[in-house]
Amino acid sequence: MESKEFEEHGAEMLHYVTSYLDSIGSRRALPDVQPGFMKGMIPDKAPDTPDSWEDVLKDVERVVMPGVTHWQSPKFFAYFPTASSYPSMLADVLCNAIGCIGFTWASCPSCTELEVLMMDWLGQMLQLPDTFLFSGPGKGGGVIQGTASEATLMCLLSARTLFFKKEQKKNPDYTLGQLVDKLVAYCSDQAHSSVERAGLIGAVRMRKLETDEKGSLRGPALQEAILEDKAKGFIPFFVVATSGTTTSCAFDNLKELGPICQEHGVWMHIDAAYAGSSFICPEFRPLLDGVEYAMSFNFNPHKWLKVMFDCSTLWVQNTDYLRYAFDVDPLYLKHENQGVMPDFRHWQIPLGRKFRSLKIWFVLRLYGRQKLQEAIRKDVRLAHEFEALVKTDDRFEITAEVILGLVCFRLKGEDATSERLLRDVNNDGRIHLVPSHMKGKFFLRLAMCGPSLQSQDIVYAWDVIKDVADHVLNSHKA
Ligand code: PLP
Repeated sequence: MESKEFEEHGAEMLHYVTSYLDSIGSRRALPDVQPGFMKGMIPDKAPDTPDSWEDVLKDVERVVMPGVTHWQSPKFFAYFPTASSYPSMLADVLCNAIGCIGFTWASCPSCTELEVLMMDWLGQMLQLPDTFLFSGPGKGGGVIQGTASEATLMCLLSARTLFFKKEQKKNPDYTLGQLVDKLVAYCSDQAHSSVERAGLIGAVRMRKLETDEKGSLRGPALQEAILEDKAKGFIPFFVVATSGTTTSCAFDNLKELGPICQEHGVWMHIDAAYAGSSFICPEFRPLLDGVEYAMSFNFNPHKWLKVMFDCSTLWVQNTDYLRYAFDVDPLYLKHENQGVMPDFRHWQIPLGRKFRSLKIWFVLRLYGRQKLQEAIRKDVRLAHEFEALVKTDDRFEITAEVILGLVCFRLKGEDATSERLLRDVNNDGRIHLVPSHMKGKFFLRLAMCGPSLQSQDIVYAWDVIKDVADHVLNSHKA
C-alpha cells in the first residue's frame, strides 16, 4: 500500500470506525457465538497473492464483528471500563507511523523525554507528593508500563533485589535462593489475581490477609502477620495495598498500612489500577491519602482516563531501585549520553517499548484536566443513580458502598438466585455484566464503562435486570 492508497483507505477506515462507535449501542454487547465459530469463515491458509482492500474491509463486518465483545457499548457493564477516545486513537496512528522502539534515550530521544514530562504532568494532576516526580527534590520518577500486572511484578522483583543486596552486604556468600526461601509479601484477600501471580513469578510467598467487613485491609492485620512471620525467621519485604479493588472497589487503609511498612522497612506498593484516574478530582483525592508512605504507586490511564490500552503508569520514590534491579548493559545498547536521561529499558521487564506517552500528551491537551474530571464525575453520578434504582426494589440489596463507578448488588436470599439472575441477564443479551464474590456472598457488578453512557442507559439496564429478575423469581416460586 502506497501513501495515496493509505490516505484513501485510511479515510474509509476512519469512516468505518466512527460509524461503528456512533451506532455501537444497536449491537449486542456480548457476542452470541460458540468456540471455534470463526473456523471456516476464512480460508485455512494465508493468500499467495494480495486480497483487495475492499474485501478485507467487508470481512471485518462479516468475520470479526460477530465475535466482538463491544466494550465501548453503553450496554457493556462488565469488569472495569477500558478507555477509548479519538485523541488517543490519533496518537496511536502517529505512534505507529514513527514506529520507534524507545528502549534507551538514544534509540528515540523524544520517546523518552515526552514520557518523562508526561509522567510529571500526570503525577501533578493526581497531586502525588513531589518525591514521586522527576522534577521533585529526590530520586523520584515514573515510567509507563503495559499493564498493572507488569507494574506490580516489576516492583516486587525490584524489592526482592533490594533485599538481596542488603543481605549480600552482610554475607557475600548469601544466595538469592536462600533469600527467596525466607521472603514474605502481603496483600489483602481482595487483591487482584495479578498480585498473586507476581508472587508466583517472583517465587516468593504471598500471604493474603483478611480484610474488614468493607473489604479493606487494615493496619492491625498487617502488623500481626509481619510480627508472626518475623518470629518464625521469615523476612517481610513487600506489601501490595489496593486502592479500588476489582471485586467491590474497596480501599485498603493506606494511612494505617504505611507507617507499619515504614517501621519494618517493607516496600509498600499501591495498586490503584481502576480508581487511580479518579484522583484527578479533588473530592476523590483523599482516597489516596497515605500515598506518601508508598515506595511505588500505579494506576491504569487505559481504564478510566481516555488513554487507550496499553498505558499503565508507575511512579517510584527512588528510581534507582528499578534502574539497578536487573542491570545488564550490552555494548549494542550503550550510548554516549547514558545516565543523563532515563534509559527506560532498565525500568521494565521487556526491552522493547512503544511511544506511549504520545497518547497521554494528546489526551491531556485535547481534553484538559476539567473535561477529564467531568467524565469521571459523570460515571460516579450514574453509579449513584443506579444504586438509587436498586434501592427502590426491596427484592434487591446493595452489597458494597458505592464510592466510584461500580455498583455491587444481588437478589436477597440464597446465592443460587443471584447466580441464576446473572446467567439469565447475560443469556438475554441486552446488557452484559460479570459477577463477584466477597465474604461468602455472590453478587453482580455493574461498572460504568462505555464512554457515551447516560442516565437513560442506566434506566435501561435496570429495566432489563428487573425484567429478568421477575422471571427468575417467578420460576423459583413455581
Ligand atoms: N489491579 C486491579 C485492582 C485491577 O482491577 C486490575 C484489572 O482490572 C488489575 C490490577 C490488572 O490490570 P492489568 O490488566 O493492567 O494488568
